[in-house]
Amino acid sequence: MSPSLKSLVTFAAALPFVIAVPAVKSDTVSSIRGKTYDYVIVGGGLTGLVVAHRLSENKSHSVLVLETGPITEDINTIIPTLGNNINHALQYSIDSAPDPGLGGLSVGVLIGKVVGGGSVINGMAFDRASAADYDAWEQLGNPGWGWNGLLPYFKKSTTFTPPKLTRKDFNITYNASFYGTNGPLQASFPNFEFPDVKVMWEAFRSEGYPTPREHASGDAVGATWIPTSLDPKTQTRSDARRAYYDSVKNRTNLKLVSGVEVNEVLFDSLTAKGVQFTTLANKTVSKVYAKREVILAAGSVFTPKILQLSGVGPADVLKAAGVKVKKDLAAVGANLQDHPNANMFWSTQNLSIPNPGFSSDPAQNASAWAQYYAHRIGPVCQSHGSSLAFLSLQSITSNYKQIVSTIKAQKSTDYLPAVYKNNPNLLRGYEAAKSITAELLSGTKAAAVEIPMNAFGLAIAAVQRPLSRGYVALNTTNPTGNPIVQFNTFQNPADRTMMIEAVKWTRRHWQNPILARFLPAEITPGVAAQTDDEIIQALLKQSALTATFAHQSGTCAMMPEKYGGCVSSDLRVYGTKKLSIVDASIIPLVPATHLQATMYAIAEKAADIIKLRHDFPGR
Ligand SMILES: Cc1cc2nc3c(=O)[nH]c(=O)nc-3n(C[C@H](O)[C@H](O)[C@H](O)COP(=O)(O)OP(=O)(O)OC[C@H]3O[C@@H](n4cnc5c(N)ncnc54)[C@H](O)[C@@H]3O)c2cc1C
Repeated sequence: MSPSLKSLVTFAAALPFVIAVPAVKSDTVSSIRGKTYDYVIVGGGLTGLVVAHRLSENKSHSVLVLETGPITEDINTIIPTLGNNINHALQYSIDSAPDPGLGGLSVGVLIGKVVGGGSVINGMAFDRASAADYDAWEQLGNPGWGWNGLLPYFKKSTTFTPPKLTRKDFNITYNASFYGTNGPLQASFPNFEFPDVKVMWEAFRSEGYPTPREHASGDAVGATWIPTSLDPKTQTRSDARRAYYDSVKNRTNLKLVSGVEVNEVLFDSLTAKGVQFTTLANKTVSKVYAKREVILAAGSVFTPKILQLSGVGPADVLKAAGVKVKKDLAAVGANLQDHPNANMFWSTQNLSIPNPGFSSDPAQNASAWAQYYAHRIGPVCQSHGSSLAFLSLQSITSNYKQIVSTIKAQKSTDYLPAVYKNNPNLLRGYEAAKSITAELLSGTKAAAVEIPMNAFGLAIAAVQRPLSRGYVALNTTNPTGNPIVQFNTFQNPADRTMMIEAVKWTRRHWQNPILARFLPAEITPGVAAQTDDEIIQALLKQSALTATFAHQSGTCAMMPEKYGGCVSSDLRVYGTKKLSIVDASIIPLVPATHLQATMYAIAEKAADIIKLRHDFPGR
């Protein structure tokens, strides 16, 4: 944590924080050990808690959630501006395998270890991708998982509150009809915008980019206003725990046990009958049983790890780790995708006050916190800003046709991990995904890069449609420890090209005369870096290029078996019975957006699918 952030946290902690905080407790291990529940959910993160909430609506169904992380009221998880801190205490300590495409760089893999998972520590951006992003999932053989199939669940998960700041103040646009009116999660706008964000918008408008009235309408290409996962009344974080668990914690048929790590799914042949877990405090090992289903919701890194440890995964990986193979399933851990990004920076002058650097100025900082505590207004209300730009490839580079035709002409196996060469189904699925990706990159219906519109010189460009694929695999020297997370960033050179085009676009953008009032001077990557190689090297040298936006997905992909999928469109793991997955690992193709709003929709839909198959068998 930087010294300025440290003093900010200390300052914040010293102030009276008067928010009614419900006393939420974990159930005890002794109260569940050896018992049988209708549903056992592994992982009480974002998706796990949504599914637990919905499945326990039926009082006659018992639901148990097992979560490694604690229940927390850490102030960093409540106050929006503190949400931008990297909260190491509530994250796993896990680094990626050195990435050859990034000069051997290993980066922290960002994953929440807390009840509520990523929703409790994330940047609170609450946006959706374009309809075409989700329709791609349906095209990959998943009926019902396109835009039309997901829209009702995007709505079901949220209660939307329009912004208090008026259209006149900031020209904030929205269309409430694309959100819900009584869903558990609060989606709203902070009671504050930095004044200079108006100038950023003016620059985008002057460059002719589309400005859709509502990004959540299925048209998320251009500069848009997005809500954040924010309680509009208290101006505090709304997350999966507070929204989906606290509200139903008194249900007698719902139990949540934190501080335990599930190690293995227990099978009878290949029918899941329960799980084995370790209590972190005393290392005791216990078992619980599931009558209807075991549901994995441990996220894109730990769900494949648990499956592999349980004997379901690529036979060679399992054998190398000394795990008995119960089901050879190459898809478990394959297909890892994320949004690689460059953190560029321009020094600026003449910024309005307050600006995003408010916390390093004692007077601005004190005033900001005083406003927040007194009236819930001011910069402290804001985490991730509410202005985002997601641009198509053709709008950032005239080279787009060349990039797309290069992708189409590639021999895929030249740029994929070895597992694709040995598995025709996995390769077929990748080829289908590649062809959809090329199509989306050549048009204007879906975005290729994200360029956040910050009211100062930070410009994070993130590649949204990576062609490279990583993997998650058991660590052969310590199978029960952290798995190997290999992002393989830029293994496909098209991803590197798109990143470089995004950097060049950002440079042109900062030359916009409208931004000249800030006297911008490029610091990162720095004007000395001109060739493509120089740009990448300069970014790496300044630790400004990274493999992950905390959007790991795809490692147990939902696709037909002929495409090398891990779960079918009803989320059941191929080759097994009574075992399903509901987390970000099922995403077949990472969408051009931050993931959380999509994860709430996926989990809501998953809960309906699971309910339907048990309550109306045969349908
Ligand atoms: C630092 C950070 C910033 C982010 N910023 C944003 C943002 O601004 N906007 C946005 O839309 N998205 C953001 N995201 C992404 C978003 O939060 C995730 O995509 C989302 O939380 C994924 O949901 P999930 O249920 O798949 O996994 P998670 O929410 O990670 O939940 C998985 C849970 O499983 C638990 N678990 C793992 N292994 C075990 C085990 N063996 N036994 C028991 N429990 C286990 C974990 O502790 C965790 O709580 C961010 C994520 C992070 C980490």
